[in-house]
Amino acid sequence: MELNLQELNATEFPVPVELEDNIAITSLSQLYNWGRRNSMWPMLFGLACCAIEMIATASSRFDFSRFGFEVMRATPRQADLMIVSGTVTKKMVVPIVRLYNQMPEPKYVLAMGACASGGGPFKEGYNVVSGMDKYLPVDVYVPGCPPTPQALLYGMIALQRKIDGQSIANGDDVPWYGVGPAEPTPVPVLGPDIIDPRQMDMIRRQAESAARDMGLLGSRELPAITQMVAAKAETAEAVAEAAPADTDALNVVLPTGGTPWAEAEDIREKRRLRALARKALRASRRAAQAEGE
Ligand code: SF4
Repeated sequence: MELNLQELNATEFPVPVELEDNIAITSLSQLYNWGRRNSMWPMLFGLACCAIEMIATASSRFDFSRFGFEVMRATPRQADLMIVSGTVTKKMVVPIVRLYNQMPEPKYVLAMGACASGGGPFKEGYNVVSGMDKYLPVDVYVPGCPPTPQALLYGMIALQRKIDGQSIANGDDVPWYGVGPAEPTPVPVLGPDIIDPRQMDMIRRQAESAARDMGLLGSRELPAITQMVAAKAETAEAVAEAAPADTDALNVVLPTGGTPWAEAEDIREKRRLRALARKALRASRRAAQAEGE
């Protein structure tokens, strides 16, 4: 990338024209931001159709290396930009948050496309998260379904502008520059539905209050089919208890007049005879075919 010191100059003191290519008078924040904004390394991962556009943006025709995004890294530990490119399912949000936690600070998130920004065409789907910002701090949203490579580039440049505006003198601008390690983002729990551990208290309170209102605290209503099966089992148990101890189950008489075991034997014998007949038929056909040849 071409080194342009003039864009770094932030001073009221004039720099002589002949020295403009060699000298820059600037602030530490600006120098720091200039280094970061021109060497963003996105993480190499894609989620759905939007990922194809992201790949196109990285390839030769659009080539986001021109803007300093350079190489995509296949490990979160060497990346500082996460492009969430595609539909975020409840199953995938867990590893995504885990990967984000493994990225070193300062790090940024770009939500690419309608799905990552708000659920897209699958919003409210049983398996889809309604926007990545419910779990991670998103810096830039790129609309579209899918966004074009130009739109993604525009979003990336918007992120660079955002970085330009940050100051290391302001702790609110650059939280990672504060004292002590940053708190990791809680990794959601995938159960029958996705659970955000940050909402655990609220979920528990709501569940308890719902159970109290319905008088169900500590008990669970069984589905109708389970209740029927349980009732039948209770009846069978009651019958067995009432019957004399020496009752032989084989002596039960079916409506057809036979006993269960006798009928089963009968069915088995009929099947055996039918199989033998089929076998004989096949053998005779083969013999007739051989004679014809
Ligand atoms: S926004 Fe559209 S193109 Fe992108 S992942 Fe969702 S459905 Fe696919």
